[in-house]
Amino acid sequence: MQVKEKLISLKGWLDKQPAVIKRGVAGLLAVVLVLGAISVAKANSACAVMLDGREVAVVQNQSVAEGVVSSLTKEQQSKAANVKPLQKITYKRVNGSDRVISEQELKELLAKKLTFEATAVGIKVNGGLKLAVKDRPTAEQVLEELKRTYQVDSSYKVTFAQKVDLVDLPLPASKIISKEQALKKLKGESDKPRFYVVKEGDTIWDIAEAFNISAEDLQAANPDFVPERMQIGQKLKMVGVAEPILDVVATTEKTIKEQTELPQQVRKNPNLPYGKSKVVQVGEKGLKEVTYRIVAVNGLETERQVLGVKVIKEAKPQIIERSSQTMVASRGLSRPSGAILSPFGTRGGRMHTGVDLAGAYGAPIRAAQAGKVIRAGWYGGYGNCVDISHGNGVVTRYAHMSSIGVTVGQTVSKGQVIGRIGSTGRSTGPHLHFEVIVNGVPRNPLAYL
Ligand SMILES: [Zn+2]
Repeated sequence: MQVKEKLISLKGWLDKQPAVIKRGVAGLLAVVLVLGAISVAKANSACAVMLDGREVAVVQNQSVAEGVVSSLTKEQQSKAANVKPLQKITYKRVNGSDRVISEQELKELLAKKLTFEATAVGIKVNGGLKLAVKDRPTAEQVLEELKRTYQVDSSYKVTFAQKVDLVDLPLPASKIISKEQALKKLKGESDKPRFYVVKEGDTIWDIAEAFNISAEDLQAANPDFVPERMQIGQKLKMVGVAEPILDVVATTEKTIKEQTELPQQVRKNPNLPYGKSKVVQVGEKGLKEVTYRIVAVNGLETERQVLGVKVIKEAKPQIIERSSQTMVASRGLSRPSGAILSPFGTRGGRMHTGVDLAGAYGAPIRAAQAGKVIRAGWYGGYGNCVDISHGNGVVTRYAHMSSIGVTVGQTVSKGQVIGRIGSTGRSTGPHLHFEVIVNGVPRNPLAYL
C-alpha cells in the first residue's frame, strides 16, 4: 500500500471519531505526514552515475555505484599499473526509482563505457611502438625470454638485430597485453588466421589494426582489393602476421675437434705387373681443432666462419703404388721390327736392357708409338740411335741403325719409318736393339707390346 492510500483510509476512519480524538489524531497525523514525506522522499531517491558530466545510469545508491567502479578498476589493475578511469565519474542524487538498474546491469554497462588509462611500458623496435605490457619488469622479462628462446646453448651471446627501447606511456588498459601475448607477438606467432574474411562494418584500417599490420601492407598483399568496394565475406590475405618483430641474433665461438680427410698418394711402380696396385703405407686421418664463429638468427644458423685451425695430429697419407705399366700398356706399343732374337734381362752376367729384334740390313724400323724424337745420332755402344718420347716418362729406343731418318724435335706417328736396320755400335750383326725406358729405367719391352 502506498503512503497516499494509507492517508486516505486514515481520513475516512477519522471522520467517524469524536473531536477529542480528532484533535489528537490531527496532531499525530501532522507528525505522520512529515515522517511520511521524509519516507516518500527517501523511497524516491536514487543515484545517477555520471561520466564526464553525462548521466549513464541510475542505481539504488552511491555505494552500489562506487562498488561497481572499484571492482572494474581492480580487474584492470591486475593487467596494468596505475590504472584509473579516463572519464570523470561523479554521482548525483536523483528522483526516479523507476529508472534504477541492478548492480550487475551497471557493471556490464560500465565495462563497456568506461575507459581505463594505465601507465604501461611500451616496447619500441627501431623507434616504432610495437606493443605494451603492464610494467618495466614484465617488458624486461619478455625480452629476456625471447632471447633465451633462441639461445642455442649457454655459450651463445644473444642480442637483438633491431634497436629496442622501453618507454613509459599512458595507454588505454585494453591495449596492454600479457607477457605471453607479447612474446608471441614479438616472435611473429599468431593464433589468428592467415586469411581474414571481411565482416559487416569492417574498414581496411580496422582490419590492419587488428592484425598489427599497416593498411598499406594489407593493400600491398591484396593488389586486387579496392577498399571502397570491400564486400562482406571477401577474403583478405594477411601479410606480415608471421614475421617476427624482433630478430634474435645469437653469436658464439666454438672450437670443434674434427677429423681430417685421409690423404691419398698414388705412386707409379714399374715393377708391379700390369693392372696391380698395393698399399705401401696405411694412412691415418688427422685431427684438428677448428675455431668457428657461428651466428644464428632466430635459432637458424646463418653463418659459420673459420677463425682458426690448430692441427692436433697430422694425417698420415695412404700411399698406394700402382703399376706404371697400366698406363704404358694402354698406349699399345707395336713391335718396330721382326722376331725376338734375344730377350730382356740378365744374360751371361750382363744386363740386356732391351730386346733384339730380327731384320735384314736396311729394312725399315717403325716407331712403336706416336711421339717426339728426343735423340737422333750416334750414342756410344748403341751406334746410330733414336729415342722417342711418348709422354708420361715413357721413351722407346732404337739402336744399331744403319741410317737415321728423323731429327731431334720431330714428331712421329705410330708406325712411321724412323730409320733402317744396321749393326752400328757394339753389335755382332744386323738387328734392332729395342728398349722401353720408363722414368729413366729400362723395362721389359714385351710387357708393353
Ligand atoms: Zn741388344
